[in-house]
Amino acid sequence: MNIDLSRRSFLKLAGAGVAATSLGAMGFGEAEAAELAHVRDFKLVATTEARNTCPYCSVACGVILYSRKDEQTGKNRIFHIEGDADHPTNRGTLCPKGAALRGFVNAETRLTQPMIRRAGGTAFEPISWDDALNKIARTMKDDRDANFMTLNEVGIPVNRWTTAGFLAASATTNETAWATYKVVRSMGIVGFDNQARV
Ligand code: SF4
Repeated sequence: MNIDLSRRSFLKLAGAGVAATSLGAMGFGEAEAAELAHVRDFKLVATTEARNTCPYCSVACGVILYSRKDEQTGKNRIFHIEGDADHPTNRGTLCPKGAALRGFVNAETRLTQPMIRRAGGTAFEPISWDDALNKIARTMKDDRDANFMTLNEVGIPVNRWTTAGFLAASATTNETAWATYKVVRSMGIVGFDNQARV
């Protein structure tokens, strides 16, 4: 069939089509049920939100982690991560690495507790946080007691501890960075650097 459709008639027909669709969506006819059947729940509904910092690089972008209970394990599971629009560093944006953070967080191989390889051992074994921190403190104290230098070779006071070094994290606030600097320098450590430079 050959239909002679002018521009004016075409617009009239299109307008009628839109009106019919809108009426259906407003409850006039079966169109409403059909349309509602295709509306999915908002994917972030009933989730717990937590703010955090991307762990990868020294830019330290802010992220929001969304979790809800996993029906199979009964445990909370992070299922969505996005940039934090209120964070002054990234304003909601993430680079590809940060955007793929969910894979890292939920990876089976992710390290979730301290590990230790004991003297003479060949394998790492798990250790509690308390034991790990006590061991670090003990080792630092012993090394500082043994190697702290109060005077240099010509008798000038230097108060240096040169046999230990410290690497600070860059994903911290100015206040945390200031406190870290003071603690490290007050112990006499000279070898002090920051992740931001690595
Ligand atoms: S999202 Fe990218 S740029 Fe931002 S901290 Fe993570 S790795 Fe760095």
